[in-house]
Amino acid sequence: MKKILSLLILLALVVSPALAEKTVKAGPRKGRLLELEGQNAEFFVEKNRTVSIAFYNAVGQAQPPADQVISAVAEAPGAKTKLEFEKKGDLMVSKTPLPEGEGYQVVVQIKASAQARPKNFRIKLELHACKKCDNPEYACTCDE
Ligand SMILES: [Zn+2]
Repeated sequence: MKKILSLLILLALVVSPALAEKTVKAGPRKGRLLELEGQNAEFFVEKNRTVSIAFYNAVGQAQPPADQVISAVAEAPGAKTKLEFEKKGDLMVSKTPLPEGEGYQVVVQIKASAQARPKNFRIKLELHACKKCDNPEYACTCDE
């Protein structure tokens, strides 16, 4: 028993750094994929700088928003801004655009359902397209 236990601890030690390593995934709209339980959300910055979020089920099919709860804080220097979201068609779209500039963090909080625990995602807002993967830099999937 003791042996099994220490083996489990050893396994946990080996596995956890791999889990902590964050690989960026991109969605079909070239946005940043945010992994939730049983579904994914895709963070995308529109041309008018509003943030739109699309949802996909576990097998990647687009889903209209259900009872997910989203909020975001743009940590722009001197202009920290809270974004609220509203349903627009099959997307959740921020009611206001992101503050000017880039390079700041956007913290997106999503509850997969009204009862779910909120999950926070920190995204560095860099809007230029990556030359290698062609995604916006905030959704760049290249290994660096
Ligand atoms: Zn890239």
